[in-house]
Amino acid sequence: MTLLTGKAALVTGAARGMGAAIAMAYARAGALVVAADILDDALAETTAHIAAGGHAILPVRLDVTSEHEWQAAVAAAERAFGPIRILVNNAGINDRHSILGSDAQSWHRQLAVNLNGPFFGMRAIAPAMRQAGGGAIINIASTAGLNGHSFAAYATSKWALRGLSRSAALEFSPDIRVNTICPGLVLTEINAGQPYLAALTQTIPAGRTGKVEEVAAMALYLASDAAAYVSGQDFIIDGGASAGMRVASAAIL
Ligand code: NAD
Repeated sequence: MTLLTGKAALVTGAARGMGAAIAMAYARAGALVVAADILDDALAETTAHIAAGGHAILPVRLDVTSEHEWQAAVAAAERAFGPIRILVNNAGINDRHSILGSDAQSWHRQLAVNLNGPFFGMRAIAPAMRQAGGGAIINIASTAGLNGHSFAAYATSKWALRGLSRSAALEFSPDIRVNTICPGLVLTEINAGQPYLAALTQTIPAGRTGKVEEVAAMALYLASDAAAYVSGQDFIIDGGASAGMRVASAAIL
């Protein structure tokens, strides 16, 4: 695959989960990948795995909540690979609190990672991306950002990220395309061991949870020239879970 040949791509939260899968998909498509995260050991392992395939990859320590760290990470990335042409704001956390079960600190932390992170990232990268001829930004939201949700701050951060993305799509056009991906349930470390997983999986029309590679495939499409006319949109990957309410089919046939 040579869809992204020679293009520098920065992926946040790339140490594991969807971020690692997106980094791998981009590397295989010929991109020069900057893998950013705060988990040093996991990041080293993931980048070693990708490098072992003969791909260009640079690990960078980046806490997405710090605008200062964004500046340093982007400078290091540009020194290695030139201007960044693809940005994936994937790093995220889920505090799993209700409104009354939360507190100010948890609320602020949730928004700091899931919303401020992409805001700082776009500010750090968009000007040089534009100057270099344009590019693509992909923000990883969630189906939790499409409706109300038991995890209030998480859902709020993802709703807001969709709004930020559409605003960015307008502001950065026509040079930079900005889209969101809204995954449904994918089994990763963010939800490992949660008691609701089996019950939730049963509600998914596809009959299973999503795979990180399936999210990465969408991220690859949105980063590529095949999506040259696609901007300001949300792409839901949830096995049909947000299509509507399903009742036992035998009862209504
Ligand atoms: P994950 O926990 O495996 O990966 C998240 C990554 O983000 C980790 O490597 C973590 O270290 C990194 N990260 C967290 N805070 C950071 C920070 N301050 N700075 C830099 N990196 C940081 O989970 P995942 O499922 O791969 O999640 C990836 C994205 O997908 C998240 O934005 C998440 O909200 C979203 N998402 C996940 C699901 C799901 O079911 N797994 C569903 C919808 C959306």
